[in-house]
Amino acid sequence: MTYHLDTLAIHADYGVTDDKTVAPSINYSAVFRADSPEEFIEMSEVPQHPRNYTRYGNPGHERIKAILAEFEGTETALVMGSGMGAISSSILSFVKAGDHVIGQTRHYMSTSRILDEMLRSFGVEITLVDQADAQAFIDAIRPNTRLITLETPSNPMLAITDIEAVTRVAREKGILTLADNTLATPFNQRPHDLGVDIVVQSATKYLGGHHDLTAGVVCTSKELAARIWKTHITLGSVLSPMDSWLLLRGLRTFPMRMNRVNQNGLSLAQTLEAHPKVQRVLYPGLASHPQHELAKRQMKGFGGIVSFMIDGDYDTASRFVSLLKLPVNAPSLGGVDSLVIHAAAMWAGTLTPEQMKTAGIPVNLVRYAIGIEHSDDINADILQALDQL
Ligand SMILES: *Cc1c(COP(=O)(O)O)cnc(C)c1O
Repeated sequence: MTYHLDTLAIHADYGVTDDKTVAPSINYSAVFRADSPEEFIEMSEVPQHPRNYTRYGNPGHERIKAILAEFEGTETALVMGSGMGAISSSILSFVKAGDHVIGQTRHYMSTSRILDEMLRSFGVEITLVDQADAQAFIDAIRPNTRLITLETPSNPMLAITDIEAVTRVAREKGILTLADNTLATPFNQRPHDLGVDIVVQSATKYLGGHHDLTAGVVCTSKELAARIWKTHITLGSVLSPMDSWLLLRGLRTFPMRMNRVNQNGLSLAQTLEAHPKVQRVLYPGLASHPQHELAKRQMKGFGGIVSFMIDGDYDTASRFVSLLKLPVNAPSLGGVDSLVIHAAAMWAGTLTPEQMKTAGIPVNLVRYAIGIEHSDDINADILQALDQL
C-alpha cells in the first residue's frame, strides 16, 4: 500500500528503532555498547550502524532517513549536520583533480564557493551556465565531465532549471546529477522522479520548519549513499541527537505546513503583482514568470519564496522592509514565521558590487520567505507598507 506524504510523515519511521515508545526518544549517547563479541563485530562492520558511534549513525538518524527516502522516492537517505554538510559530502565523493563539473551561475552561495573556489583550487575544471538555458548544460559537457549540479528554483531570483532536459542527456553519457531541492521541497518537486541521481536538501528550512535546528539530507541510491557516507564520516558534519529529534518533530507537520506555504505564497505574489508600487514579482506560480510553463510541468506547487522589485531604489526597498510589521527581518527561510530581507543589503557583505551584478540581484529586490500565518494578515501588512511609500 502506498501512502500519501501526510501519512508517511507520521508513519514511515514506525518500527525503525525498537525503543517501544510512541514518540521518538532522544538518543543522547555518542557511543553504544555491544552485549557480545558477535554484536561488537556487527556494529563495527555494518556501515551506517545506528548503534555504534553517533558520527556513524544514531537511532534518531535512522527514523529521519526512513521518512526522507519515502518523501523523495529514493532507495535510501543520509542525514548530516547541515545542508552544506550534505552538499559538500556529496560533491566531494565523486570528483577528483582532472574531472570537469558543470554547475549553475546561480547556486546557494556556499555551493558556488565549493564549485568556483574549492574545486577549482583542487584542480577540477568548472563550467557555470545559465540555469534557464537547458541546452547550455548539454553544450558544456566534455569527455571528462563527472557531475552536473542543479538547483531549482534558485534563490532569490526564482529561476527554474529544466531538470528532465538535463538528466536525460547526463544519464546517456554516464554523468552524475545532483539537485538541491531545498526551495521546492519534496512536497512540490521530486527531482529523482525526473532523473536526478542525488537529491540534497537543507533540512534547516522547510523540513525542520521552525527556525530552531540545522540539518541536511541526501536522498539517493544505496550504492551512491555508501560512498557519500564514507566522505561524510570523514568530513564529520554530524547531525546532533537533539537536532535530529527536533527535525523528526518538524517533519510530522511538514506536508500541512507546505500546503499553507504554497497557498500563502501564491496569494502574496498575486497581491503584489496587482499593486502599482511594485515593479515586478518573481514567483514561478504566476503566469508572468518567464518559465511558468516549465515550473507547472515539474512542480506541484510553487513554494513560499516571493521576490519582488519595489518601484524605487535601494533606499525605497530598505524603507519598505522597515515598514512591514509582520515578518521578521532575518535571513533563512522555511519556518513557521515569515521572514523578509532586502536582498542587496543581505548580500552586500559577502558579494562585491561586480558579483551582485553577475548574480543579477537588483538593488530594489525584496525577498519574502513566507510562513504559515493567515494569508489575509500577511497581505494586509504588505499593503499598509506599500501605501506608506
Ligand atoms: C540554506 C540553504 C543551504 C544550506 O543549508 P544549511 O543547512 O544552512 O547548511 C543550501 N541550499 C539552499 C538552497 C539553502 O537555502
